[in-house]
Amino acid sequence: MNLSAVAHELQTAFGERSERDAALGELTTYRVGGRASIRVRAESISDLEVIGKLIARSGTQFAVVGRGSNLLVADEGFDGIVITLGDGLASIDISGTVVRAGGAAPLPIVARRTAAAGLTGFEWAVGVPGSIGGAIRMNAGGHGSDMTQSLVMVRVVDLATGDQGQLSLADLGLGFRTSMLGRSLVVAEAELALAVGERSVAETEISDIVRWRRENQPGGANAGSVFVNPRPDSAGRLVDESGAKGLRVGSAEVSNKHANFIQVDDGGSANDVAMLMALVRAQVRDHTGVDLHAETHFLGFAPQVAAAAGAQRVEDFA
Ligand SMILES: Cc1cc2nc3c(=O)[nH]c(=O)nc-3n(C[C@H](O)[C@H](O)[C@H](O)COP(=O)(O)OP(=O)(O)OC[C@H]3O[C@@H](n4cnc5c(N)ncnc54)[C@H](O)[C@@H]3O)c2cc1C
Repeated sequence: MNLSAVAHELQTAFGERSERDAALGELTTYRVGGRASIRVRAESISDLEVIGKLIARSGTQFAVVGRGSNLLVADEGFDGIVITLGDGLASIDISGTVVRAGGAAPLPIVARRTAAAGLTGFEWAVGVPGSIGGAIRMNAGGHGSDMTQSLVMVRVVDLATGDQGQLSLADLGLGFRTSMLGRSLVVAEAELALAVGERSVAETEISDIVRWRRENQPGGANAGSVFVNPRPDSAGRLVDESGAKGLRVGSAEVSNKHANFIQVDDGGSANDVAMLMALVRAQVRDHTGVDLHAETHFLGFAPQVAAAAGAQRVEDFA
């Protein structure tokens, strides 16, 4: 089945929620990168099942994009279907200490809603601008916590087959900023277990975290930490020590405020970011002997370009 036939079927099933030759850069916090052959927005688990069944029949390449806060899309774009999750998959339901959040629910909103409900344990997420689904794939974390501390189970749809299922925390293999969540699995919903706290204490912690972020992290177009901390060391410290702070390739620059952030100029290029990442890795390797790996995920890049920039599972993202 060719892409035109796939696009036609998606258009019939989803109307204006399916778009051909759709911009991708605007879906990411870097705000650079090319276009997808097809972009489709799912509003329910059954939408994801329909999309998965079509992918299974057609063999089309696909990728899921959440809030794009950890994603670099190649300037050449992505030759396949990009699936995004809409508001129908962003609900947040709180019942006692159990929170059910859609895969598209933004972490800062989940953090604020749970704190306002007098729950504690998710305050850390207020400064992470991703979605629940993206945070599970990355095992997002900060301020001494991460998703493993509250996640109980997820409801997923396999986009390679259209089948849905449930996975427990143990099935997900969450590690430091990584997971073993199968590449074709999209998180549609997650269940979190938090603890009873005090609303005022939780909200004060949230304000403190927001202030800390403002004081310590750069603004502008970026995707948070570029390289995974080679614990117990920090990638930012190694980049700084290697003299790479302020290094620039075309439109991309290593932040002077935080050496593990890269900022891109308005209208800049994703390939500049990838080349800068490769340059920084080489400089850190030369100065410290440490081989940094990318926290950023890549979409649409040639495997060798993604590998040079530090992609951990090149076959997944190129
Ligand atoms: C200013 C800033 C600060 C940040 N601070 C932190 C921090 O403190 N800690 C931290 O861990 N991260 C941080 N990040 C990085 C980022 O916010 C997290 O990695 C976040 O979890 C990514 O979620 P997302 O929805 O944006 O995912 P995307 O960037 O859209 O995608 C990332 C990966 O997740 C996959 N994915 C997305 N949605 C789903 C889904 N529903 N199901 C399955 N897979 C999915 C994508 O295919 C991709 O492989 C920061 C980013 C920025 C810009």
